[in-house]
Amino acid sequence: MTADPGRLQPAHEPRCECVECRVQSAILLLRTGRAAMALRVLEEVPMLLTDALGMAYARGHDRAILTMRTKPKGPRVAFPRQAEELRRHVDRLGAERVAATLALQVADLGPLLEGRVQLGSSGLEKLRRAG
Ligand SMILES: [Zn+2]
Repeated sequence: MTADPGRLQPAHEPRCECVECRVQSAILLLRTGRAAMALRVLEEVPMLLTDALGMAYARGHDRAILTMRTKPKGPRVAFPRQAEELRRHVDRLGAERVAATLALQVADLGPLLEGRVQLGSSGLEKLRRAG
């Protein structure tokens, strides 16, 4: 190709075999009257297109699945009242004291304070008595 190097896409190697580059070189060959060569270049394009579409579909599909799996299902709080009470205990006693009373690590308090995990009632009782 004699194209302006500044216009070449950096993602494509000079002798790239991808569908886009093949079609572009076929166009160039046709423009310069080399139809037989253009035909050879184009012969594999339908197959390459099918592969490329299949791969694009697979990538999009994987991404969609992953998004569905990782997306939180709205601001659903399973145990809002318990979480609210726990937050009050944390304000009153401090996170370390609350964690120690529940025999947990401070890091374990996160899901409890967000109301995503339920605490046994005996744990709450211990906190109510602590002071
Ligand atoms: Zn290419």
